[in-house]
Amino acid sequence: MQERAGDIRDVTKRVLSHLLGVTLPNPALIDEEVVIVAHDLTPSDTAQLDRKYVKGFITDIGGRTSHSAIMSRTLEIPAIVGAGSATTTISEGQTVIIDGIEGNALVDPSNEELKKYAEKSDAFAKQKAEWKELKDAKTVTADGKNFILGANIGTPKDVEGATDNGAEAVGLFRSEFLYMDASELPSEDDQFEAYKQAVEGMNGKQVVVRTMDIGGDKELPYLPLPEEMNPFLGYRAIRISLDRQDIFRTQLRALLRASNYGKLAIMFPMIATVKEFKEAKAVFEEEKEKLVKKGVAVSNDIEVGMMMEIPAAAMIADKLAQYSDFFSIGTNDLIQYSMAADRGNERVSYLYQPYNPSILRLIKNIIDASHKEGKWTGMCGEMAGDQIAVPILAGLGLDEFSMSATSILKTRSLLKKIDTTKMQELAKKATDDCETTEEVVELVKEYTK
Ligand code: PEP
Ligand code: MG
Repeated sequence: MQERAGDIRDVTKRVLSHLLGVTLPNPALIDEEVVIVAHDLTPSDTAQLDRKYVKGFITDIGGRTSHSAIMSRTLEIPAIVGAGSATTTISEGQTVIIDGIEGNALVDPSNEELKKYAEKSDAFAKQKAEWKELKDAKTVTADGKNFILGANIGTPKDVEGATDNGAEAVGLFRSEFLYMDASELPSEDDQFEAYKQAVEGMNGKQVVVRTMDIGGDKELPYLPLPEEMNPFLGYRAIRISLDRQDIFRTQLRALLRASNYGKLAIMFPMIATVKEFKEAKAVFEEEKEKLVKKGVAVSNDIEVGMMMEIPAAAMIADKLAQYSDFFSIGTNDLIQYSMAADRGNERVSYLYQPYNPSILRLIKNIIDASHKEGKWTGMCGEMAGDQIAVPILAGLGLDEFSMSATSILKTRSLLKKIDTTKMQELAKKATDDCETTEEVVELVKEYTK
């Protein structure tokens, strides 16, 4: 109800602004250096931020895996979400330091604090310059095991950031951002151009496009969805696509046509059952056949996989692995659904526990099931770039890590230093012996000393 109240306030403000002829603050029009302090930033607000001017943002609500937080990592804008009372304690004109690494904000800092943080910022820039040397290197561990590090992108424009940061693939293209950027459903041709640009930009490296994942916190103003009590558990993602096949088929045709210009893979979001996967795949096959019959050039080598982000699917990963070419673990949702804790609610954000043995066991089940069928598993949730999680995931045998492009080089640097046999031992202890997140963290520290 609280969220809906926010929507009504938003509409009221817009109507009033039209009636009074007053321009509302528009994040896209900011043209001076600022720190934004807001109650909340929607994914579309965040997408419009220009990092040249927006030096950071703080919001009252949100969690580590809210889309505004995820996007701040891609845009490299320091951010703190879920700060509680930032809008009531910080006023216009005050100086604010945002330490996005520690998640601290300092209001009206002293000269000493300003100096200390300027030094910290310089040290971070130096560290980044060192990581940059690994840009063209392969991701190989100390004992010679190869991993693929991919980038998560939202539009073809992000491909440049991905390649600049040494991405070996795009592990997740959140295609819904194409829909959110438009004022009506994007046409087949517009989508085709966007997917083509992304695969061409990656120059033969794989691009995994996720079909539209609308719903939850991602809304389309021109596609009003029914009001729901629990939007994250509601009519969203593949559920909409299977219902609104007109939208789904248009997207699949655009993807099929773009597959001819590089290495494109497709995955479906929010698959819960074998039946859903089979239905979605059947629609894909139908559209492919129709295009081929018409003489349209389509790649014969398109992998069709699925997001693993619903616990029910994770439990029957062995069955799904028989049909899906690969899995991509969406830990942002997998954790929220496993822990029954809304990923955007700061009051329950302590339950975002990627290293909890419960979550690690689910992940192990998914990876093992895919390998038994000769398939591969990637991870595209924020956990894939988490420096405590990476050694465990390497030990569990994850094949591909996909993350905000800005986390790739530090992850490559970390993986280069580790020994996978030792990490297998670590992963076994973490999944079998540990009881709590804290125990797992201690174990990782011990193993990566
Ligand atoms: C996830 O759920 O982990 C994921 C990668 O998708 P999104 O964050 O877009 O829900
Ligand atoms: Mg998800």
